[in-house]
Amino acid sequence: MSRIWVLGAGQLGQMLKHAGMPLNLDVQPVDIESEDTFPLQAHEQVTAEREQWPETAATRQLASHPAFVNLQTFPILADRFTQKSLIDELELATAPWQLVDNDTDANALHEKLGERVLLKRRTGGYDGRGQHWLREPGRDAVPADWHELAIAEQAIDFDEEMSVVGMRGADGQCFFYPLTLNLHVNGILLGSVAPLARLAHLQSEAERMLGKLMDHLDYVGVMAMECFRVGDRLLINELAPRVHNSGHWTQAGANISQFEAHLRAVAKLPLVQPTVKNTSVMVNLVGTERNDAWLSVPGAELYWYGKEVRPGRKVGHINFSLDSHADTKVALDQLQSLLPVNYVEVLNWLRSQLD
Ligand code: ATP
Ligand code: MG
Ligand code: MG
Repeated sequence: MSRIWVLGAGQLGQMLKHAGMPLNLDVQPVDIESEDTFPLQAHEQVTAEREQWPETAATRQLASHPAFVNLQTFPILADRFTQKSLIDELELATAPWQLVDNDTDANALHEKLGERVLLKRRTGGYDGRGQHWLREPGRDAVPADWHELAIAEQAIDFDEEMSVVGMRGADGQCFFYPLTLNLHVNGILLGSVAPLARLAHLQSEAERMLGKLMDHLDYVGVMAMECFRVGDRLLINELAPRVHNSGHWTQAGANISQFEAHLRAVAKLPLVQPTVKNTSVMVNLVGTERNDAWLSVPGAELYWYGKEVRPGRKVGHINFSLDSHADTKVALDQLQSLLPVNYVEVLNWLRSQLD
């Protein structure tokens, strides 16, 4: 049985482990805070479930292993400054932006980027944490401790948000899942649906963009590209060099999930175009106590992460990949009666995509 080490032991690492079993891959997620010594062998691959990590005994061990796949890509994409610079260098569309340096003031940002400017911490942000809006020209200011540590982006008046999850093998071959439509509220992903026929005309452009990035980075494995759709244009929001929340539906809706795809690429097993079964939906469970009754909803496929439940924290997700949109809507109605009232927004949104 070959072994693959994963830097990070959160839900993504656990789902990689789960996906490794049928492939006879022994996937070992490693807690970044661990003080253990791991028996890494020269022929074993190392991958990561996160783009950034602190220096700890565990991360030092894994990151110094010669077979750490994509090691040189992580620092580029983990820093929004180098990530956005790369997107510009490859002439791919993205929200206009600039670096916030020591003497950048809010007025200059408004002048260049417009009335609404979004500051984003260069590193460490996720689920919308690490963002600060400047919406009051003449009155607002860059927070003192954000200088040098942030970029500023123009607010994009997008029609909707979507993402594409792609995979690239060591031989350079790329495959992609169909575009996923995503609902983010206050920076956090609440739900996804894919594929949708009305988005098919954007697929080749999304593949060209992500393919160009993966080729340039000589990337191996699964990468996700989050986009804004503005009319028929796609603007890249951000990139994730790993399996991604917006690809969780592939566990139910494709013959090869994004987790299996990533492992195949890293383990140098054959990669093929995944086949997609039905329109799937995913509901993120955020800060909600587990309820076994969810399992009684026909078609519900629950992934519970086993983490302590805290407000705003992703603690699980539920996938559906049913034969018809009508069946999915009925299932979402049933699920709604078993979820807190704040889920009505995402469930309504999902149902409206299935009309
Ligand atoms: P993730 O959890 O996906 O890693 P994150 O914290 O890294 O999120 P972003 O993806 O950059 O942050 O932004 C989170 C959300 O904020 C986006 O999905 C979008 O809804 C909104 N957003 C980000 N950038 C812009 C922008 N330039 N204009 C308008 N809205 C934006
Ligand atoms: Mg992010
Ligand atoms: Mg994001």
